[in-house]
Amino acid sequence: GAMLGLLGGGQLGRMFTMAAQSLGYSVTVLDPEERSPAGSIAERHLRADYLDREALNELASTCAGVTTEFENVPAEALRVLAERCIVSPAAESVAIAQDRILEKNFLAANGFGVAPYTVIQNARTSQDATNPDGALPQRQPQFFPDLFPGILKVSRFGYDGKGQVRVSNASELDSAFAGLNRESCVLEKLLPLEREVSVIVSRGFDGEVVTFPVSENQHCNGILDISIVPARVSPEIARNACDIAIRIAEKLDYRGVLCVEFFVLAEGRLLVNEIAPRPHNSGHYSINACVTSQFEQQVRILCRMPLGSTSMHGAAVMVNLLGDLWQKGEPEWEQVLRHSDVKLHLYGKRDARPGRKMGHYTVLAETTDAALRLALEIKQSLQPSHSTLETHESPRNES
Ligand code: ATP
Ligand code: MG
Ligand code: MG
Repeated sequence: GAMLGLLGGGQLGRMFTMAAQSLGYSVTVLDPEERSPAGSIAERHLRADYLDREALNELASTCAGVTTEFENVPAEALRVLAERCIVSPAAESVAIAQDRILEKNFLAANGFGVAPYTVIQNARTSQDATNPDGALPQRQPQFFPDLFPGILKVSRFGYDGKGQVRVSNASELDSAFAGLNRESCVLEKLLPLEREVSVIVSRGFDGEVVTFPVSENQHCNGILDISIVPARVSPEIARNACDIAIRIAEKLDYRGVLCVEFFVLAEGRLLVNEIAPRPHNSGHYSINACVTSQFEQQVRILCRMPLGSTSMHGAAVMVNLLGDLWQKGEPEWEQVLRHSDVKLHLYGKRDARPGRKMGHYTVLAETTDAALRLALEIKQSLQPSHSTLETHESPRNES
């Protein structure tokens, strides 16, 4: 079969590789690391920087198409590849999605609702010879009072809530901006969220577009913790979210798999939080719960095949497994596997650092309530503090 190229070797790439292989393709991974979740299962692993000309030439000349799993791949790499082979998504879309300033400006300019925000720049870069050593944020006082309390977010390379600081007044803003030590950030109003949802949308080269069922996402310390699908919102909100996701994909002339994250406010108002130019953690449920997964969709688009059905029977809850669970060694997977409608996915990472995404499991059930109940029960049973031994032996003081 033909070869597909993949920029980035993380878990998203590993799941893409599995989907590609099950459709008969081979995969070449380009990643600077020696060992990576995708690199270790792909047919070929090119160990080089993303902008390494030789490696890019090699990819372009051996692969039918190239995609990315890494949000921060230099857009230039995609541009270079696109001169010689099929690339999904395009450099232009990735460039927007990986820069919070471009992203917010794009969304706002095209009429998609976003949280109130302003760009905070180092005065030195934003202007002006008259303020040669001004390291203070460039002030736009007319907007500021409305944005507190707010969140200051780095414009590039933030993920899992990293590079974000909550600020409640101008002086906290100044010190947070200095602390983040970036040329530019976005200050965003902190909003009262009723909940968060996301939509994975896939759009092919011929413009065919399909959304996945809306996912409801709960975060813990800025990291996705649980996704509940279908999201517990009205059909109208779900339809709106899908419409917006499709319109964003069309505005970008996007070719590939795109995730749109939303804030749900009171009265069902939807604001776009951010977009990710790739399959997304909140779409992992699709591997086990949908006819076609987000990764198979990514393969199909790259190979110019028709999109698959995203329909889903029943409900699913996905729970992330972070490195924290490995405190006392490998968790007891039997706690997951003894449930016959639960699917476990481990990413083959050796180094279980706290906060690191090591795997996930997906509970399948008829209703979200039933799936959530079992998901939380399993989550509890996996805690390092919880052991079958302790529960039986500890004295029961409470009753
Ligand atoms: P990801 O890993 O999804 O890329 P990220 O680092 O880009 O995360 P955001 O999605 O901007 O971060 O924010 C992480 C989480 O912080 C959000 O999912 C939400 O729970 C919370 N959050 C972010 N911005 C706001 C806001 N303006 N108001 C309220 N909560 C917010
Ligand atoms: Mg993000
Ligand atoms: Mg996010």
